Amino acid sequence: MLNKSEAGFRKLIELLKPHHRKIIWGFVFMLVYVVCWPLLAWLAGQLIPAIGKGDLSKVLVVITQALCVFLVQKLAQFFQDILLADPSLRISQDLRQNLFSKLQKTKLEAVEKLSTGDLTYRLTEDADRVGEVIYKTIQDTTPCALQLVAVYGYMVYLDWQLSISTLFLAPIVAVLVSKFGAKVMIAAEKSQNQVSELAGLLGEAIQGLPLVRAFAAEEWLQQRFNQQVELHRKARYQNLRLLALQHPVIGFIEASGILTVLALGAARIQSGGLDSKGFSSYVAALLMLIDPISHLTTNFNEFKQGQASLRRLKAIENEPLEIEDEIDAIKLKNPKGDILFESVEFSYDNKNKVINNLSLTISGGQIVALVGPSGAGKSTLFSLILRFNKPQKGNIYFDKFPIENLKSSELRTQIAIVPQTVVVFSGTIYESICFGRVATKKDVIKSATIANAHDFIMEFPNGYETRLEERGVNLSGGQLQRIAIARAVLGNPSVLLLDEATSALDSEAEASVQLGIKQAMKGRTVVVIAHRLSTVQEADQIIVLEKGTIVDKGTHDDLINMKGRYRELCEKQFIRNADP
Ligand code: ADP
Repeated sequence: MLNKSEAGFRKLIELLKPHHRKIIWGFVFMLVYVVCWPLLAWLAGQLIPAIGKGDLSKVLVVITQALCVFLVQKLAQFFQDILLADPSLRISQDLRQNLFSKLQKTKLEAVEKLSTGDLTYRLTEDADRVGEVIYKTIQDTTPCALQLVAVYGYMVYLDWQLSISTLFLAPIVAVLVSKFGAKVMIAAEKSQNQVSELAGLLGEAIQGLPLVRAFAAEEWLQQRFNQQVELHRKARYQNLRLLALQHPVIGFIEASGILTVLALGAARIQSGGLDSKGFSSYVAALLMLIDPISHLTTNFNEFKQGQASLRRLKAIENEPLEIEDEIDAIKLKNPKGDILFESVEFSYDNKNKVINNLSLTISGGQIVALVGPSGAGKSTLFSLILRFNKPQKGNIYFDKFPIENLKSSELRTQIAIVPQTVVVFSGTIYESICFGRVATKKDVIKSATIANAHDFIMEFPNGYETRLEERGVNLSGGQLQRIAIARAVLGNPSVLLLDEATSALDSEAEASVQLGIKQAMKGRTVVVIAHRLSTVQEADQIIVLEKGTIVDKGTHDDLINMKGRYRELCEKQFIRNADP
């Protein structure tokens, strides 16, 4: 697992390549910054004895030199930071864009499994954290590591015997840091998972708020929320406790190390191995090691937390992708809208068959009503026609072509869907009808007119430029349905898949939607999941589906006369829903 995420980080470093110019310049300034440290240690070696001797003019000269070195160092740090900030932010941006693009291609059922809040958290917080780690690694960890090498190199130059004794401390610190790091990563992943779950619950809670109020279920929801918050607090506390323990332990080892070096240094001066100037420089250099060691420890923890985030991001990447188009996909020319199912079998989990040896011919221009109990597989048939899923057995043809030989985007331009629940993104009505497609105002008005939506849209002061609030809350259910119909007919598809809304609209709204649907159906093949008797009666073909199998097929009159499942269903279901 760990190796996988390390490989993941290596892949991220690949993303740095396009920005190599800025990075090289950033490193040049970083080197200037790093070289200044031993120089400052050397100046400290000049300064301290001069102060001891009371040699004011020497002190002033050395202070001026030190000021110049500091100035150069801080300028170099500034340029290093700004030159390296941009590439690291861009990587984080690329990472997020790549993931979102991956999400757009991921199988719908895999995405639906994850909660909205969880996904949002991963794409925002986790992606940010990974970006932060990249930024820190380039901008802080690297100069700190170089500073460590440069300063230690200078210490070896000053007194290698003394430096070897300091080196004994390094493995102790390294082992401790890595042991803590591994624990921090596990704790961080746990804590991040808890936040994700919290975000998921929040998403559900916000969407379901009206329902929660209607059922007076606030107390129940509050308790669920409190439990989740409590779990998060515990996970976070575990993380913080580890960090809290790490700093004093490593700090103590550092302090002991410094005191030991001081004692050893005093012994070296006594034996004549080191003079006071050299020792002053040595102590100054030693003190210069503390800051980078503490940064490296903190950054290592963050690196581990970043690895946890990267693992969570990778989990999205590993979800199965939508079925890809074949390279030489066929292009459709004036399709008629014929659909043919040939002995189709499909299962979501490769175990339970949802569609069972189903054969069905739908000729261009026909109206076909799918009826049957909930769970019969009606929506699954839609998802197969749209190629969201691939049957394990049998074939589906569109205009005589197997659908897997067609370009999915082209197939979906020819087959439009009006779902039961209308989804709108915030934006104008115009944008909502276009839904990412380029269309002239004339075409949009034409579609809205077909959908019986033009008149109500024009009643708004801003007409088509009226802004829709999130989830379309400023439109009525019937109005939203008509927007969805306008959206579906905009591309002039040859097939319309309709999932009739089951939620009752008032009779006036219902009539307006029905008129829109009737107009939209003209000249197209229509497959409708029917809940209304009027729709069923008008159908050229009614398919009665049960447990993924066609149990009855024919016109309304045929099937009523057959006194089979359809008639039973009508008596149970449609008559109740039937139009007066
Ligand atoms: P209908 O539209 O007739 O109500 P569906 O096509 O939605 O029926 O569902 C048919 C069966 O497939 C049901 O048993 C349902 O639980 C199952 N099913 C639907 N979608 C999924 C999915 N994404 N993953 C697993 N099973 C699913």
